Amino acid sequence: MARSAADRLRRAGERVTPQRLLVAATLTEAAHGLTAAEVQQRVRRARHRIGRATVFRALEALVSAGLARRLERDGHVYAYVACEEAHHHHLACDRCGRVEDIGEAHVAPLVREIEREAGFHIDDARVDFYGLCAGCLAAGAG
Ligand SMILES: [Zn+2]
Ligand SMILES: [Zn+2]
Repeated sequence: MARSAADRLRRAGERVTPQRLLVAATLTEAAHGLTAAEVQQRVRRARHRIGRATVFRALEALVSAGLARRLERDGHVYAYVACEEAHHHHLACDRCGRVEDIGEAHVAPLVREIEREAGFHIDDARVDFYGLCAGCLAAGAG
């Protein structure tokens, strides 16, 4: 069974606060990455008060506890996406912001090849692929 956000924060040595849980739930509900500003809008729409600095601190705590990961958007903006505990990688759509998970099986052969060629032992790899999702491709390049 999946552990709760509170549990995962606690295990990572992060403080559990109502704001952090609210931000975690907001990310989990979204099927795509959210910027700090978008998280704040959604939280406020749900009639909770939260400041931008609190949103940023909550997002950083979630990232350091592994509950979220940071993805790049155009213009040096970060989007945050909720993440499961199992090791995985991302396919991030540049147009609609949708984020899909891909499993380690896709990336493991690449990691082994790099180790062989570079003589480098890789302990950890997190790969985010950016492009267009199937939905955006079907909608056309316009
Ligand atoms: Zn993820
Ligand atoms: Zn898309």
